[in-house]
Amino acid sequence: MSQPLFAQSAADLARRLRAREVSATEVAEAHLDRVSATDPQVGAFLTMPRDEVMADAAAAQAMLDRGEGGPLCGVPVGIKDNISTRGVATTCASKLLENYVPPFDATVIEKLRAQGIVCFGKTNLDEFAMGTSCENSAFQLTRNPWDLDRTPGGSSGGSAACVAAQQVPLSLGSDTGGSIRLPAALCGLVGFKPTYGRVSRYGLIAFGSSLDQIGPFGRTVEDVALLSEAISGYDHLDSTSLDRHPIQTNALKSGSLRGLKLAIPDQLMTDEIQPGVRATFESALDLLRKEGVEITPVSLPSIQYGVTTYYIIAPAEASSNLARFDGIRYGLRLEGEGHIGNVATTRGEGFGHEVKARIMIGTYVLSAGYYDAYYTRAQQVRALMVQEFESTYRDFDAVISPTSPSVAFRLGELKDNPMAMKLLDFCTIPANMGGFPSISIPAGLSDHLPVGLQLTGPIGDDERILQLAYALEQALPPTPSPAMG
Ligand code: GLN
Repeated sequence: MSQPLFAQSAADLARRLRAREVSATEVAEAHLDRVSATDPQVGAFLTMPRDEVMADAAAAQAMLDRGEGGPLCGVPVGIKDNISTRGVATTCASKLLENYVPPFDATVIEKLRAQGIVCFGKTNLDEFAMGTSCENSAFQLTRNPWDLDRTPGGSSGGSAACVAAQQVPLSLGSDTGGSIRLPAALCGLVGFKPTYGRVSRYGLIAFGSSLDQIGPFGRTVEDVALLSEAISGYDHLDSTSLDRHPIQTNALKSGSLRGLKLAIPDQLMTDEIQPGVRATFESALDLLRKEGVEITPVSLPSIQYGVTTYYIIAPAEASSNLARFDGIRYGLRLEGEGHIGNVATTRGEGFGHEVKARIMIGTYVLSAGYYDAYYTRAQQVRALMVQEFESTYRDFDAVISPTSPSVAFRLGELKDNPMAMKLLDFCTIPANMGGFPSISIPAGLSDHLPVGLQLTGPIGDDERILQLAYALEQALPPTPSPAMG
C-alpha cells in the first residue's frame, strides 16, 4: 500500500496489524512523527506521553503475537483531556487541574487498554468542556487543519483536529450539547454521540451529568462504529449505565437507503443556517432522494427553546458538579484568609471566565427563590421536546438536519459575542436533551470548508443510526483530508 501509515483508516490499520504487515510499534512511531511534524501548527495535544504510548504499543504487539486483543488492537486513539487516565495528567484544560494526575483509569480507557488499543495523548478542549471553539482552553489554541486561522469547533476541538490532521485515525470526545458533532462537522469528520448510558461516564470529569456522553471521532463511519463497539457496554460503576450489550457492528454495511424515511424539522432549517451550508446540505438531500430516501418536513415546536433550556440545565448541573474543586481534594490549592478564603482564592484563580459565569448562572437558577421559575420550567420544556421527538420516531427512521449552522469560523471572530457562539448548538442540543444517539457525517464542502449532516434516532438505536450513516456516507461524495505538511 502506497499511502503513508498515518493516512490509513483505523479499519485498514487494524487489518494490516492482524496480518503482520506492520507492527504496533511502527504504527505508533509513524503517528508520533506525524504529530511532531504537524502539531506545532495545529495544537491538538496538551500532553503527548511518548514513553507510555510506546509501552502501550509494545503491549498491543504482544497481544497480537498471542492472537489476542480486540478488533482495533494496536490502533492509536487520541483522548480528550477530561477523560481520566491513570498516571497521565488530566487537566480539563483548566488551571485548576493543571497538575492533576488521576490515580485511576476511566472505564472507557480500561476498555481500550484491555483490547490493546493505544491511548495516544490527551487533546485540548474548552475548559471543562464549556465552549464551542476550544478558545476557552486555559493553555493553548487549537487550529482547524482545513484553515489554520479558523477554529476546529468545540469543546472537543483537539480530538477533532488531531483526526483531521491525520495525527491519529480515531479519538474520543465528550458531548454535552454538541461537543463531538459540532467539531466533527467543522473538521470534515464523522462524530458520534451514542445513546445516553450506552458508554460509561465513569472517569469522565462531569459537566452536565444528565447530558454528558463520551463518543468517537473518525474519518469514516466504519472506524467510528468500531470504536463505538470497543468503548460501549454496561458498567456497574456508572449508575446511569444502560444494561445493554456493547454496540454491535456486524450489520453495519447491510443497510439500504431505499424506502428510508427521514424527518427534517422546520425549526432546524431557519435563517441562522448560512446560505453555503444550506446549499451543500440540500444538494446532499437531493442525492439521497435519488437513492430512494423520503425526506419530509415536520414541525417540532419546542426545538426553538432548546438553547435556552440547555443554558439553564447544563449550568445548573455544572455548578453542582464543579463544587468539588475546592482546593482541598483535587488540583490547585491556593491560600487565602481562613477556609473560605482558601476556597475562594483557589476557585477565583483556578477557573476561567466562562466556567465562573456558568457556575454563577447555575447557582442562581437552583436557588430557592428561582428554582421553580427557571430549573423546573426548563425540565418541563425538556420533557416536551423529548415527547415531540419520540412521536416523530413513530413515523420516521431518523431526524436529519445540518449539524452546525455555519462552517468553521475565524479564531477570535465570536470571542466578544458569546450569545452567537452559544446559538451555534441549536441543531445538536435536542439529542442531548433526550439522550438520543446522534451522528454527524461530512456532507460536502462550502467555500472549501466542510459541512456536516446530522442524523438523530430513538434511544438504543445506535446500531441503526450507524448503519444509516454508513449507507449515507456511501451515497455522498467523499470528503478529502485537508492538505497539511
Ligand atoms: N457548546 C456547548 C457548551 O458550551 C456544548 C458543550 C459540550 O457539548 N461539552 O456548553
